[in-house]
Amino acid sequence: MNISFLTLTPVIGVAGTALYTWYAGFSLWMPLLLVGMYLAVGMSICAGYHRFFSHKSYEAHPAVQVFYAIFGALAAQNSILWWSSSHRVHHSYVDKDWDPYNIKRGFWWAHILWIFYRNDERDETFENAKDLLQNRIVMWQHRWHKVILIVVGFGLPTLIGAAFGDPIAGLLWGGFLRIAVIHHTTFFVNSLAHMLGKPVFNAEVSARDNWMVALLTLGEGYHSFHHRFPADFRNGIRWYQWDPAKWWIAALRGVGLAEELKTTPMPQIEQARLRAALRLVEPRIASSAHPMAAEIRQRIDKAVEHIERAVMLWRQHADERAAGVSKSWKTTQRRARRYVRQSRRQWKDAMRLLGRLPQAA
Ligand SMILES: [Zn+2]
Ligand SMILES: [Zn+2]
Repeated sequence: MNISFLTLTPVIGVAGTALYTWYAGFSLWMPLLLVGMYLAVGMSICAGYHRFFSHKSYEAHPAVQVFYAIFGALAAQNSILWWSSSHRVHHSYVDKDWDPYNIKRGFWWAHILWIFYRNDERDETFENAKDLLQNRIVMWQHRWHKVILIVVGFGLPTLIGAAFGDPIAGLLWGGFLRIAVIHHTTFFVNSLAHMLGKPVFNAEVSARDNWMVALLTLGEGYHSFHHRFPADFRNGIRWYQWDPAKWWIAALRGVGLAEELKTTPMPQIEQARLRAALRLVEPRIASSAHPMAAEIRQRIDKAVEHIERAVMLWRQHADERAAGVSKSWKTTQRRARRYVRQSRRQWKDAMRLLGRLPQAA
């Protein structure tokens, strides 16, 4: 079933849509239908299946959960329960044998082949998803997701097409082509986001940060950050980083449909960044007997020390703030920020010296 579905949808979706449109004619509503459904379904996977159900990175209103359950089913990526359970295994065992989409088995395995070997019907206990077993919307969707996929996933675009006078074009653009696009953009998170880019926040695992992958995946391309801080509702943490899923979640909060958005404290993020960068340069410094290496080491130690102070002070400021100690938390926060800046300066100096360090023979 999986193999035929995953090979036929792109053939019908790409070649079928192209051929049909060639003969029957093109209208602007066709790509608009594709984009509209891509956004609704893609967001239900990224902000719904992934950031809400799998990682609990915020609280969502039941109406939003129902939206995710219905439009997420349209992605033809199995139920919320199954998807989230597999995804949690991916996070626990990333790059190891238990990782369902282990990148160590190659691009094609992580991208699509792993699905060919999964047996959806086998009895699973969903041990790692007890919270989801309690969720009535999740359990309802687990039972009906295939029916929703067929009735809504193919029926809705056909109806919209009929309203414009061409139901087959609706079915092809909004049904088959849209499924093929969503499949492969989601799969890129498991393949490309574990190959291309930099391990900015965690040098120990294969996850990478890459803005180009983020463009293809509604923001999921900042994957190094995500693997380091999976509970954060953002993947791209800077305001300018392309992450439509985080903007969507923030907009939901704006209209009162989401709350308790989880974010990682800034110094903790900086500490992770520093540790990952350090891991990458450490061998070069360790292998050098040059006197400058000792100075570099010293500056790096300072950078590490400052960032540790900043993390501590930030925690203290959060406690003070929660306790309502009005003035002092602001001072503590300022001190934490100062330590972050000092840590950055030391690190920059260390890296400048490292650039001048003669290569070990
Ligand atoms: Zn991953
Ligand atoms: Zn994840």
